[in-house]
Amino acid sequence: MTTPKSPQTALIHSDYQAPQGFAAFPNAIHHASTVLFKDVAAMRSGDWKEKNAYTYGLHGTPTTFTLEARLAEIEGGKYCLLAPSGLAAIAMADFALLKTGDDVLLPENIYNPNRELGRWLAQDFGITARYYDPLIGAGIAALIQENTKLIWTEAPGSVSMEVPDLPAICAAAHARGVLVALDNTWSAGLALRGFDLGVDIIMQALTKYQSGGSDVLMGALITRDRALHERLALAHMRLGMGVGADDAYLVLRGLPTMKLRFDAHDAGARTVAAWLKARSEIATVLHPAFADCPGHAIWQRDFTGAGGLFSVLFDARYTEQQTDRFVDALQLFKIGYSWGGANSLVMPYRIAAMRKGWQLPGQLVRLNVGLEDPQDLIADIERAFAAM
Ligand SMILES: *Cc1c(COP(=O)(O)O)cnc(C)c1O
Repeated sequence: MTTPKSPQTALIHSDYQAPQGFAAFPNAIHHASTVLFKDVAAMRSGDWKEKNAYTYGLHGTPTTFTLEARLAEIEGGKYCLLAPSGLAAIAMADFALLKTGDDVLLPENIYNPNRELGRWLAQDFGITARYYDPLIGAGIAALIQENTKLIWTEAPGSVSMEVPDLPAICAAAHARGVLVALDNTWSAGLALRGFDLGVDIIMQALTKYQSGGSDVLMGALITRDRALHERLALAHMRLGMGVGADDAYLVLRGLPTMKLRFDAHDAGARTVAAWLKARSEIATVLHPAFADCPGHAIWQRDFTGAGGLFSVLFDARYTEQQTDRFVDALQLFKIGYSWGGANSLVMPYRIAAMRKGWQLPGQLVRLNVGLEDPQDLIADIERAFAAM
C-alpha cells in the first residue's frame, strides 16, 4: 500500500520499479552525487576506502569501480584510482607521496606539464624537484638523497623517445626505500609490464588509447600494494578527484577494441617510420623499435610492442621555417596535441629548448600514426616533403 501523494510529490517519488534481471554487454552508466543507504546502520558502517560499498558519488559507483578494476587487470595491478585527466593523476601521486622537505626525481624528458608541476612543488611547497638523464639507468643511485621519496619515469619519453632502464632504476630506488612511478601511457599497459619490472605506481592517461576516441580526458593510478594504494586513495579523497559517469562509460566502451587498435597503430607507425628512415630529408628516426632511438636495446628487452607515437629529426640542412612548412603542408596528419585516437597527428617541438642536454641535431617533428592506411599517410608525407 502506498500513501496517496500530491501530483508534485508524485513527480519526485514514483512507485515504479523496473523488473530485475536485465543483462546486456555494455556497462550501466550510474549517475550519482547522493548515494542512498538502506538504513542508518548501513550509512554508519560505510567506509569510502572500501570498494565493496557505496558512500558518495565522488567515491565511486558501479561504473567507476568497474573501470578501475578493469584497468588494474590490464596493467597486472590490484588497485586503481581514477582522476579527471592524466595530469590530475600525476598531481595526485605527488600530493599523496611528497611533503615539505622531500625530494622528487624526474627525467629530463618527462611529459612537460609534469615538469611544470615539479617547478610548482619547488617554488611553493618546499619540495626539491631534480631532473635526471632518462638514460641514467643504475647511475640514478648517485642522485638519491636521504629525503628522496619518489622517482618518476616515463617509457619512452613522449617527445624525445628515450627508453629508460626501468629494472635498473627500480633496483637503485628500492635499495634506498624510494618509490618509482611510471607514466606508461605510450604502451597503454599492453606492451610494457611495469609492475613486473619493479615499478610501484603506474600512471595511465586514459585520454589516449583507452578512450581511443579523441573525446575524453581521464587518468588513472594503478598499484599492487595495499598500503601504497591507501596513501593515494587518501589524496584522491582529500583533493576531491572524481570523473563523470558518461566519461567512465566511454573509456569502458573503448577497452574491448584497445589491443586491436594498439596493434594497428603499432604496425602503421612502423611502416611509416621505416619509409622515413630511408629518406634523405630525415636524419634520425626516434622510434624505440628503430636502432637510431636512444634506449632501443632496452625497448627490445622490456617491451612486447610499440605505440603509434614517434618523432623524427630532420636533416640539419632544414630550418625551422622549412619544417614548419612541412607540418602545414600535411593534410591527413592534423596539427594537435594528444594521441591514441583514429586520426593521425603531427606536432613540431623546439626540443633543444625544452630538453636539457639534448645533443642530436635537426628539427624535431612528432608524429602520431592513427588508423588510416599507412600508404596514404606516406603519400601525405611525401607531398609535404615536396612543399618544404
Ligand atoms: C597525455 C599524456 C599525459 C596527460 O594526460 P591528460 O589526460 O592529457 O592530462 C601524461 N603523460 C603522457 C605521456 C601523455 O601522453
